[in-house]
Amino acid sequence: MVMSVIEERKIVMNSPGPVNQILDFYKKLERNPEYEWVKWSKVRKRFTIKNANAFFIGVMLDQGQTAERAWDGGEHMVDNHFKGKRNFWKSVAATHRSTIRKICQKGYDETSYASVFCFNKFPIWLRNASDKMLNDYKGDPRNIWNVTSENVNEIYIRFKSFDGIGDALSKMAQFILVRNYGIAGGIENRSNMSVKPDELVRRVLFRSGISTSNKIRESIEALENLHLPSPADFDAAAWIIGREYCLKNKPKCYSCPILVSCQYGKRHNQANSADAKSRGAPRSVE
Ligand code: SF4
Repeated sequence: MVMSVIEERKIVMNSPGPVNQILDFYKKLERNPEYEWVKWSKVRKRFTIKNANAFFIGVMLDQGQTAERAWDGGEHMVDNHFKGKRNFWKSVAATHRSTIRKICQKGYDETSYASVFCFNKFPIWLRNASDKMLNDYKGDPRNIWNVTSENVNEIYIRFKSFDGIGDALSKMAQFILVRNYGIAGGIENRSNMSVKPDELVRRVLFRSGISTSNKIRESIEALENLHLPSPADFDAAAWIIGREYCLKNKPKCYSCPILVSCQYGKRHNQANSADAKSRGAPRSVE
């Protein structure tokens, strides 16, 4: 009997398979001090204006380069440029566009703050952000996320209205603020936060068999069908698996925490073991 794709998927969902393994992996991460960021803050943490500016710029820079470099870039920019008596955003707005470009493209210890992909766009985004920040948020990014618990989604909408901050980055910014800083109700909104799976998460969903495709629409649908109590936690665990094990080429299935239930991983691992055996076998002499 040939099973339909939907039936096959139901079996995957109902078995103690990849979904549960990813959730178990999240519990382990929660206890690991190296992954502090996956935990929900129990208290509301405050930003200084300087940290808020660095956070906002870090969000903008977090595309096409490592997250570590992006966050560091945000801090570096507020520490080293557009300083003085003025508000940071007033300084950006008052700076000539050619100088902004020079700072953005050379000001990070003689390198560009943005990735190659955003090299020419970032100076324009930053200048446009200064206008919006001054006009709509009184030059203070903290006003972007100064919303009540019921309006938590407003954070996402507001980030998305800035040039250069797309869907995924807006979602990410909202997550970090709510989960790690306890903003807009914090943990109260744990179950209300929808996710926007990025490339890493989509790859894990697809290879593990949770989603029938690695396309964005199918991945979101697959996640919604799981009715998870906390989609954000699942997303964080899947993201770490995607980043550390499920590499595009040469995934490290042999050490992946969900190997035993991953469709692709089991096949890939078996093929590799067979390959290793055949390479190790003595050759016959003709
Ligand atoms: S077992 Fe392999 S293919 Fe499956 S999620 Fe882990 S690394 Fe990716």
